[in-house]
Amino acid sequence: MAYDIKVVNTVRERHFKPTPRPEIWKDASDKDWNSWIWQQQKRVKTMEQLEKVIKVSEDEHQAFAASHEMFNMAITPYYASLMDPNDENCPIRLQSVPKGAELHIAPDDLEDPLGEERDMPVPGVTHRYPDRVLFYTTHNCAMYCRHCTRKRKVADPDSAASSKMLEDGLAYIEKTKSIRDVVISGGDALSNSDDRIEYILSRLRAMDHIEVFRIGTRNLVTLPQRITDDFCKMLKKYQPVFIHTHFNHPKECTQEAFDACARLADAGCVLNNQMVLLKGINDDAQIVKELNHKLLLMRVRPYYIFQCDMAQGISHFRTPVEKGLEIIQKLRGWTSGMAVPHYVIDAPGGGGKIPLLPNYLIKHEGKKWILRNYKGVEFTYMEP
Ligand code: SF4
Repeated sequence: MAYDIKVVNTVRERHFKPTPRPEIWKDASDKDWNSWIWQQQKRVKTMEQLEKVIKVSEDEHQAFAASHEMFNMAITPYYASLMDPNDENCPIRLQSVPKGAELHIAPDDLEDPLGEERDMPVPGVTHRYPDRVLFYTTHNCAMYCRHCTRKRKVADPDSAASSKMLEDGLAYIEKTKSIRDVVISGGDALSNSDDRIEYILSRLRAMDHIEVFRIGTRNLVTLPQRITDDFCKMLKKYQPVFIHTHFNHPKECTQEAFDACARLADAGCVLNNQMVLLKGINDDAQIVKELNHKLLLMRVRPYYIFQCDMAQGISHFRTPVEKGLEIIQKLRGWTSGMAVPHYVIDAPGGGGKIPLLPNYLIKHEGKKWILRNYKGVEFTYMEP
């Protein structure tokens, strides 16, 4: 059956809006605007540039002045265009512009909240679970997210993944036959050039024991221009390739993001989203539901909701665990199961992902299981 592009376009036009350009970039040509290189080069890094995009608050001013000591600011023009210039609580702004609260290190905050360094058999590879590894290939990102768990590494030029580190990582994966799944991560894996990504994929695909790769990237959200036709054409050669991305709010679901996801899906990639639960950004079941519905329209499966980690300087983003359970309770049964991700806490210190669910089991006696459904109505299931 022929692929009906008109139907897809109807979805795009009906549910997604193009991103309007603020005055500062009005004169940029479409060619520049749609170039990921241009977007990277023109990232908003100074207060002078930021003030041309938004009305900067006093708190943001002060936090920016101190941000060089903690975590630099860098925002692509595309992502900056999504910010509300007059609302300092805009969800896009909260994720990209420094706030004073970042300077506060809470007593429970951890430098390496997930214990990733502890489980490194060689620098750059975290091997925690039996059959899969996390492979750090760069410490750069298109944008520096204020809630980043890996602040200690990201944007630190001294911790950039060298060629030796890459080769040592590949050698470890090659000799460890129990690994079948490799998460190519960073930083943002798409901060690597196409050639470097292809080199990694071709090396991994040549190993008999490697079955699937996942590419971890937020570029679909912060720099969708990165998903070029050439890049997708290259990926096609190495399928199955899973893309794990990180949309946090429906405002991030634009026509540009839709197009980037469409190109990847058309190239045969399977797309999954890993949302982080963030206070003041998406700690609301309605917002999460709207986000997940938009993701499904973009052919992205809502995969995880992560409880915000105990990383340093992000405690202002952390919600009570009850909030995550409440969101799942308000999704499960009330909308299609495809729009209900797993809610997990990535256990501090390296315990791995632990799933949490509202309690649907009332009682269990012998063969009798008393359960409740999403509306709270009780039912009995009898084992044979
Ligand atoms: S893209 Fe990911 S790794 Fe990079 S700053 Fe954002 S959250 Fe951190």
